[in-house]
Amino acid sequence: LDPDRERLSPTERDIEKVLRPQVFEDFTGQFKILANLRIFVQAARQRGEALDHVLLHGPPGLGKTTLSHIIANEMGVGIKITSGPVLDKPGDLAGLLTNLETGDILFIDEIHRLSPLVEEYLYSAMEDFKIDIMLESGPNARSVQISLNPFTLVGATTRSGLLTAPLRARFGINARLEYYDAKLLTTIVLRSASILKTPISDEGAYEIARRSRGTPRIANALLRRTRDFAQIKGDGNIDTAIAQYALNALNVDEHGLDEMDNKILTTIIDKFKGGPVGLKTIATAVGEDEGTIEEVYEPFLIQEGFLMRTARGREATESAYRHLGKIKLGGNAS
Ligand code: ADP
Repeated sequence: LDPDRERLSPTERDIEKVLRPQVFEDFTGQFKILANLRIFVQAARQRGEALDHVLLHGPPGLGKTTLSHIIANEMGVGIKITSGPVLDKPGDLAGLLTNLETGDILFIDEIHRLSPLVEEYLYSAMEDFKIDIMLESGPNARSVQISLNPFTLVGATTRSGLLTAPLRARFGINARLEYYDAKLLTTIVLRSASILKTPISDEGAYEIARRSRGTPRIANALLRRTRDFAQIKGDGNIDTAIAQYALNALNVDEHGLDEMDNKILTTIIDKFKGGPVGLKTIATAVGEDEGTIEEVYEPFLIQEGFLMRTARGREATESAYRHLGKIKLGGNAS
């Protein structure tokens, strides 16, 4: 579900780790979320308690994993990482839970993909820090309740719409991450370049930033590729010219839209006369899951003014036509 991450090679994953901010201070953007988290962390620390459970939602690459590491660092506690699809049966979860020290963080990525059985098992752990475990099997099988050390569950999801109400209700802190504007992404690119010891101009950083689909992970990936072009085709410095050269060579869209973004817009325009057309119809036509389009692709297209959500369905905007070099038929095209 996180294609950007799955595409990364092991070395690139290491670089991603190096570029990851470690403390609140180094995390750019998401100001409201940060301001609140700082208070909650400080208050929990003062009381000597575990932080309330935290749910982070939003599209891939916006900093959910990064934030959970930062929370652990700022709380001064350990963190264990797992993900929804990995936790096959309650026993897997029990093993993790019983190994948590007081205050530790359990990070569950893609928490919307927990099996119902595992999810239900999580409820009493989250609520009372207690779980039932089975002792022995066969005729002697019996379950005993054991107490866990108080811990903090941090759940991350790209698809908050898929979370069940009982699970959602068990998170005391709930934050939705937003796309980053070009200015914030420029700051992130400049910071990453300085960690990678790559000379870069503010304008070069901005060029990468504005074509990164509002997403820090994409900005960092494009920075690394642009660095390669600067090294081989230039003098190692990243300025606007080399950034433009690299991004064009990489087929990166002028507005940072990715393949699926463009496919969605092209489909609405070519097959459905620009809309309005229902979400389900679009999903079938582009071969992508309805919910993924709604929660991962649409928010960016709407924010950037390429798509409108109306009562009768989705409509491509004038900007979408212009962006794709298409002419609107029958409308009052400007
Ligand atoms: P998610 O878990 O939401 O998919 P990650 O936390 O893995 O996203 O972030 C992807 C990459 O983007 C990380 O390598 C991190 O360095 C970078 N990143 C994300 N958010 C920020 C930010 N606010 N400031 C700086 N870098 C960020």
